[in-house]
Amino acid sequence: MKAAVWYKAKDLRVEEAEEPSVRGAHDVKIKVKWCGICGSDLHEYLAGPIFIPEGSPHPISGQQAPIIMGHEFAGEVTETGEKVTKVKAGDRVAIEPILAPNENGRYIDEKYNLTELLGFHGLSGGGGGFSEYTVVGEHMVHVIPEELSYEQGALVEPAAVGLHAVRQSSIKAGDTAAVFGAGPIGLMVIDALKAAGASKIYAVEVSESRRRKAEDLGAVVIDASSEDAVKVIHDEIGGVDAAFEVTG
Ligand SMILES: [Zn+2]
Repeated sequence: MKAAVWYKAKDLRVEEAEEPSVRGAHDVKIKVKWCGICGSDLHEYLAGPIFIPEGSPHPISGQQAPIIMGHEFAGEVTETGEKVTKVKAGDRVAIEPILAPNENGRYIDEKYNLTELLGFHGLSGGGGGFSEYTVVGEHMVHVIPEELSYEQGALVEPAAVGLHAVRQSSIKAGDTAAVFGAGPIGLMVIDALKAAGASKIYAVEVSESRRRKAEDLGAVVIDASSEDAVKVIHDEIGGVDAAFEVTG
């Protein structure tokens, strides 16, 4: 199969790789349909390694560079290990790429995203979404509803980041918010704020195309390169209930 493999900064090769197979009882093999390019993928390409293990293997994947990249993806289940109960061949799934201690098809820790062993499928070895097929644990797949396309499914992981940020905040229906940075994650925060019932959302962003996207989503945009965002917000409504730093 074809895969995009990170060797070192500015050296990403699309090459033949061995098609992975189901080995563990809780393994799930995926035919990748869509995979996003994350900001961290760009950082790894331009100035890596950052997350990518080099010199010693990642404790969970057991691998180090060169590694297959791609961690924001969705695909179709083609094969499952004998103990998998969550999905079956033909299911459409989004991938939760977190590598954390797991057993019997489940993450072990409650806050598994905060483990010291944290890694990512597609950054820390063990395969990735920039390939035709990949194999992940049963704990890393989530069935997506029919009305969600595979393309949208590839956005579930970054969307979860925005949703989590809003859930971590004290925002409640009717509150106001400011989002500093309207890149993909900032835009997801804006969408999650709308779903949470925010009454007014400011988006502070220097890029014109991103401001336009934020405006399309219903935010009031402020160009931080020509306006004092804090002053504008204070003058208009005296401040916001919650502010989100999403610049990087
Ligand atoms: Zn990402």
